Amino acid sequence: MDIQKQITVTAPLLPSLDDFLPYLQDIWERKWITNNGYYHQELEKALCEYLKVPYISLFTNGTLPLICALQALRITGEVITTPYSFVATTHSLWWNGIKPVFVDIDSDTCNIDVDKIESAITPKTTAIMPVHVYGKPCDVKRIQEIADKYGLKVIYDAAHAFGVEVDGRSVLEVGDMSTLSFHATKVFNTVEGGALVCCDEKTKQRIDYLKNFGFAGETTIVAPGINGKMDEVRSAYGLLNLKQVDKAIEARRKVAVCYREVLRDVPGISFMEDMPGVRHNYSYFPVFVNAEKYGMTRDELYFKMKEHGVLGRRYFYPLISEFSTYRGLESARLENLSVACKIADSVICLPIHHELGVEEIDRILSLIVL
Ligand SMILES: *Cc1c(COP(=O)(O)O)cnc(C)c1O
Repeated sequence: MDIQKQITVTAPLLPSLDDFLPYLQDIWERKWITNNGYYHQELEKALCEYLKVPYISLFTNGTLPLICALQALRITGEVITTPYSFVATTHSLWWNGIKPVFVDIDSDTCNIDVDKIESAITPKTTAIMPVHVYGKPCDVKRIQEIADKYGLKVIYDAAHAFGVEVDGRSVLEVGDMSTLSFHATKVFNTVEGGALVCCDEKTKQRIDYLKNFGFAGETTIVAPGINGKMDEVRSAYGLLNLKQVDKAIEARRKVAVCYREVLRDVPGISFMEDMPGVRHNYSYFPVFVNAEKYGMTRDELYFKMKEHGVLGRRYFYPLISEFSTYRGLESARLENLSVACKIADSVICLPIHHELGVEEIDRILSLIVL
């Protein structure tokens, strides 16, 4: 066992305390600490501008906007989704009494395989819930064509896609709605937090009702809403973090460049390149281990790294479809998801964050280069 300091897969982007204290002081003076306060409104405005989206509604985490998006669009029956994601994607369907229908993924992007969506559509299908996995944009054009053809809604779980743009336009603008997570481990965080992006004012209003118990006035309830509100303290924290997120993304990009330079020459290790015309956020750096060519299985490498204090993560293993809640579904059968299975068994996400230094990167790479 190495006595060196552990290297974690990510590190939270934190605003400086010196900057944060005056904001806290101001909140204390205002004595308005939640329910669409000053900082909540400021952060929504600032995020619309930064993300180049028309309407955003802040939430207390990234799971509730998924649940509320399904409520707002009145989605029922079956929803087509991917097994290769964080469990919250599918859990949001379960909490709405919706049956998830898993479709296999594309081996190049790890996103839902658009060629396999149509054959999963049944008379009960009402929507598609794709995920921009690792912040790599889905084939949004094809997905919209299929949705239009069959009259389906599209809700993107864009938890990984903060700030991602395609040809200068936000990837959050496509589909009916997109959701974000501002969890501590994400590129942009508010400790815990999240948001729902939509395209018109009426929808934004409805979302704002839904996240506040359905209150549309002092004594008027327009829907069986939930409590999903973000508070003033975390909104202020978010405003400060937003000012430094570009710098953090640039630091992450440099880490990715270092990894690629060295790993390009390692047989049996593959990784993803940048896509043309895309502004990436470098939220994750997945590598895929081909055990035969590399001479070691994914788990052997994963545990070797762990033993030496390098904590990669097997995102996403196991597949969501393998958890007991979902295992019994017809679409969870392994033969339906052979690409996703193969990728889940070969992936390790290497540490990547704004503070990762050259020495640490070398230490990580020396464990992988045999
Ligand atoms: C992080 C994440 C979520 C949930 O976000 P929370 O803020 O932790 O609730 C949802 N989907 C994906 C793909 C995520 O990575």
